[in-house]
Order: sequence, then C-alpha cells, then structure tokens
Amino acid sequence: PPVPLGSGVISLVNRLQDIFSRVGSQTAINLPQVAVVGSQSSGKSSVLEALVGRDFLPRGNEICTRRPLVLQLVRSSEPSEEFGEFLHLAGKRFYDFSDIRREIQAETDREAGDNKGVSDRQIRLKIVSPNVLDMTLVDLPGITKVPVGDQPSDIEARIRTMIMSYIKEPSCIILAVTPANSDLANSDALQMAGVADPDGNRTIGVITKLDIMDRGTDARNLLLGKVIPLRLGYVGVVNRSQEDIQMNRSIKDALVAEEKFFRSRPVYSGLADSCGIPQLAKKLNQILAQHIKAVLPGLRAHISTNLVTVAKEHQSYGAGQGVLLLNILSKYCEAFSSMVEGKNKEMSTSELSGGA
Ligand code: GDP
Ligand code: MG
Repeated sequence: PPVPLGSGVISLVNRLQDIFSRVGSQTAINLPQVAVVGSQSSGKSSVLEALVGRDFLPRGNEICTRRPLVLQLVRSSEPSEEFGEFLHLAGKRFYDFSDIRREIQAETDREAGDNKGVSDRQIRLKIVSPNVLDMTLVDLPGITKVPVGDQPSDIEARIRTMIMSYIKEPSCIILAVTPANSDLANSDALQMAGVADPDGNRTIGVITKLDIMDRGTDARNLLLGKVIPLRLGYVGVVNRSQEDIQMNRSIKDALVAEEKFFRSRPVYSGLADSCGIPQLAKKLNQILAQHIKAVLPGLRAHISTNLVTVAKEHQSYGAGQGVLLLNILSKYCEAFSSMVEGKNKEMSTSELSGGA
C-alpha cells in the first residue's frame, strides 16, 4: 500500500481550513488543495471514489456533481473507525456511506434545485478512514456544452468560471481528467489546466477508461507524455463501468481488476509508476506535501496578519468564542513556525523532496 508522506502537515492544514471556513474567512487564505477537473462523465467522481476507497459520490452518465464538493480525507489510526461528517451538519457522524451520498444529493437540491441546476456554493465533507491518505480534494461540476433542465444558456461559461476560480490559485494542484477513448488534443481538462497553469508545475494528467479504448490502441504514448507533455506526468486508471456500478461491483474488486488489467498487458509493463489508482494516490500525496512545505512560510505570515481581522469579525459572536478561536489559531501559528524552522521531524524528512 502507498505510504502517507507528510501526513501530519496535511492534517494540520485540513484543520486550519475548517476553522477558517467556520469563521467565514475562507478567501483570506489560499491553502493548497487538489481540484479535479474535466468534461462531464470523464470519470472525475469515479477517480475520487476510488482514491477514498468507498462508494459515496453521486455518479453516472448525466450531470451529478452540481456544487463544488470539498472532500477532506483524514487518515485514522483506528482500524475500525470510518465515517463522514458534513460541515453543514457538524457533529453528526455518517457511518453508512449511502447516507452520505443521499445527503450530498439532498444538500445539492437545497441550494441548486432538483432540475440539473448548478451552484458555486461549496459542500464540505470530511471522511475519516484508516484506508485513505491525508489530502483535501475538490470535486467540481464537469464542463458541459448544451444547457439542460434549469441550466442557464451560458452554462458552459459559468462552469468554466467556477472551475477557474479554484484552479487559478497558485496553491491549487490540478488533477486534469481525460478519458482515453477521446482525443487528448480536445481535452477540456488539459485546455483549462493549460490556461491556469501554463508551466505545468501543478497539473497531473489522469487518463481514465483505458479499458474501453479502441481495439488495437493503447495509452502508452499518452502516459509517457509523448502526445501532450506534462511536467508532473500522467497516471492511467481503470474505474468501474456503468455496468459494474449497476451490478454493485465493489471498489475493492475494481481495484483488484485494475491491477490485473495492467499486469496482463505487456504494453504497460515498464510504466508501473504511471498506472493505477494506488500510484495516483501516492503521487498526489507526495506533490501535496512538497507543495505545502514550499508555501508554509508565506502561509504563516498570512495567518499572523489575519489574527487581528479574525478577532474583529468575531466580536459579534461573543467574546468567549472569539478568544477560543484566537487561541486555536495561535496554537497553529506556533506549530507552523516550528515546521518552517525545521524543528518538526515531519517536515525535515528527506522523503518529502524525493520522488520515491
Ligand atoms: P464525472 O461526470 O466526470 O464525475 O464522471 P463519473 O465518475 O460520474 O463517470 C461517468 C461514467 O463513466 C460512469 O458511468 C462511470 O461508470 C463511467 N466510467 C468512469 N471511469 C471509467 C473507466 O475507467 N472505465 C469505464 N469502462 N467506465 C468508466
Ligand atoms: Mg462527477
């Protein structure tokens, strides 16, 4: 199984994000996170589910993801502890993952209506599980061209603007999802990533649907970056098909099948680092940890200056809560300081800068 690198750092950032989003100061801090972008039905939600290892996202061949979903994965050391918790229902633990899916759907409808409408208001969900790597992912609505249901005539432009508001942030790592059975040169994901991140410093290419490519073709050259080069490279994956979903095939079985898929095809034999969901998880976590390490000094300065603003905002909430928040934030500042100065073991490990 992939090794969680720098997990302490990432969970610290996750907790900070929760605090700031409660305070309403979300915009004040650009915390690194991973956003998944691509056309509708390219397999974005499937990739996220496979990374989490659980079925819980609305998913299918029409528009399912209609609000940004901020998914905070927290690795639990308790082997039996696995639950989800929404920020809008803080304190309520969801142990049944199909209830999580229902709540995402209900909360989507509450904000965006039940007729395919799209909203840019986030849903925030934390998943605590022994089977995940610590990271924060954002599932975004896919790019669509033709308005359906309650969608306005400029739906494509609106979704592009929404996606861009996430991926333009220099701290955002972009997971650009393109199905292998479409032309990479027409990829909405790579096109948008190319605009937001022209140097390709923070874009990982994900090629889905390797199992349904035309007979006689393979993704070797795509994965090697010979078609469209990407600095951070590509990972090819095989998710469950719609038929697999209808037949209730588990993610666990799908991961076994994916492994077998790559193992049984000599064309992918030399490409182990670019094949499979576990490789994607590993690559993501490494990049995220390195990224956080790089932005820490700026983040720390930013938090310090924002302490005053946060204190002011919170006067209306009553002195008690304001002081409590300030105490929490001060604690985080100290933790960040010691990391920046290399006192924290987590940050001084050499694995963080290595590619292994
Ligand atoms: P999204 O709109 O980008 O979030 O895409 P979804 O994850 O909802 O997937 C859209 C459809 O494509 C679903 O029916 C999935 O079962 C199917 N799908 C996704 N990835 C793969 C894959 O790697 N292989 C196959 N055969 N089907 C896939
Ligand atoms: Mg989706």
